[in-house]
Amino acid sequence: MTTIINGTPVVQGVAYAPAVWVRRPELPTFTSEIVPEEDRAEEVERFTECARKVADNLYSRASRAQGQAAEVLVMTASMATDRGWVKDVTKRINSGVPAIQAVIAATDKFVAAFEAAGGLMAERTTDLKDVRDRVLAHLQGEPEPGIPDLASPYVLLADDLTPADTAGLDPKVCVAMATELGGPTSHTSIIARQLGIPCIVAVRRLSEIESDVAVLVDSHEGTLTIGVDPAKARRLVEIDAQRAERVRAWKGPAQTSDGHRVQLLANVGDGAAARSAAQAGLAEGVGLMRTELAFLDAPFEPSIHEQARIYSEVFAAFDGHKVVVRTLDAGSDKPVPYATLENEPNPALGVRGLRTTGPNPEVLDHQVDALVLAAQQNPTTEVWVMAPMVATVPEAEWFASLVHERAEAAGVTLKAGIMVEVPAVAVMAEKFLPLIDFVSLGTNDLTQYTMAADRLSPDLAEYSDPWQPAPLTLISKVAAEGTATQTPVGVCGEAASDPVLACVLVGMGVTSLSMAAGAIPGVGAALGQVSLEQCRAAAEAVLTARDAGDARNLAREALGL
Ligand code: PEP
Ligand code: MG
Repeated sequence: MTTIINGTPVVQGVAYAPAVWVRRPELPTFTSEIVPEEDRAEEVERFTECARKVADNLYSRASRAQGQAAEVLVMTASMATDRGWVKDVTKRINSGVPAIQAVIAATDKFVAAFEAAGGLMAERTTDLKDVRDRVLAHLQGEPEPGIPDLASPYVLLADDLTPADTAGLDPKVCVAMATELGGPTSHTSIIARQLGIPCIVAVRRLSEIESDVAVLVDSHEGTLTIGVDPAKARRLVEIDAQRAERVRAWKGPAQTSDGHRVQLLANVGDGAAARSAAQAGLAEGVGLMRTELAFLDAPFEPSIHEQARIYSEVFAAFDGHKVVVRTLDAGSDKPVPYATLENEPNPALGVRGLRTTGPNPEVLDHQVDALVLAAQQNPTTEVWVMAPMVATVPEAEWFASLVHERAEAAGVTLKAGIMVEVPAVAVMAEKFLPLIDFVSLGTNDLTQYTMAADRLSPDLAEYSDPWQPAPLTLISKVAAEGTATQTPVGVCGEAASDPVLACVLVGMGVTSLSMAAGAIPGVGAALGQVSLEQCRAAAEAVLTARDAGDARNLAREALGL
């Protein structure tokens, strides 16, 4: 008998191997003993030494790792010597608390503060707990916890994985991983993406799978299956290996098997990312430049010339192509000191995106001036400008006329569009589309607001799934309106990078898909496998689905993928 367990897929692939559970060590129990005053300095010294050893070990692993794995290890290492945390532990020891209890109590305090801050901070609690467990191991004279060094292939299962666990994984041996917690933006997911290890997170019933049991992981579907016939499982792994080979061989430009062209574009944050996407040679342009990423650390608003310099780098990288720039999406999980309000009780529903022009109208004004300047410097780049978090018709109308008027006055052509992230826009798509040159569906936020689920909450990953039929229904409405009015409809949220969902979006009438540059070959290869008619059938099928899993299955059936 087979048992299927569902989760949220993060990195696609199929694997079959015995499960290996990695569990965090139990915390040592509290004792009531008090450290005598004369021993406290030595106890502080013992703690400092252990924390330093943990940091040293992590830094040394970082020096042997690459890319994001190295960055993540450095970040975790720095937590072991974080001044605030070390000071808190030291203070507790100096008041008589033994080092072990002091480390646990100080960590609890910081974890609570991170969780209260929410967003990305909340996701870092796993890292801090990892540092705690490593320091505790040293304090007890035990080896640091981690993943056993195994020689034969296995599927890694855990409640949650820490960056230090995942950063050293060998994808030839660790053939897949699944966690009960974690979200698509957690460190587990980031490292899994970098290493190309199939990964599923937020698997609520993961504990039903025991160590050593053979498990089939299908992270296209987000399933872990036990009790599968081994020959069948190996066949599925083989079919997926062929798919992976097609992806490696894909060269573009993207089209369905019957020749329906789809523009595949890159999401970038700055000139370096744009140049690297252009060099890879597969993106036909930029579908989303997240301008706030270039300015997150700026304490003051960068000058018009400084902004123009950054936009110009991106335009130059895609000379002769289309570049869609999004005006500052400040607020919520992306606070920008000079543009956002502090201490909003509900920042995701607050003054973010275009709404920040209320308290700070000059910021958008300057940004449009900078875009005009950069467009003048790069006359052969096709510049499209769009606003995030638009919710009303007058906002869309006002933004489009602002962009058009400035461009006209400066003698350049800028297309003006809006992001569809707020359900209100999709619901009234027919009122918005005639007012603008294009729309781009921000499926991350559109899903967040349609499902009323914080996109960063690991506990809500299943609601934040772009396969949820409700946001898909809204996307379909916008795409149909785009087809009827011949308005380009792009998708620039994570949904665009899911190869199967990309085919569904094309079937709905979406004309361009924008994603992390690395995801382009996977999407291009999938589109090449299916006809436009199959895409349309899949688009119709998902609208009849009752939940995200059902939508995935119906689409794969219609597409034969
Ligand atoms: C989105 O919401 O889908 C989007 C692309 O914008 P961001 O992820 O930057 O909020
Ligand atoms: Mg968004």
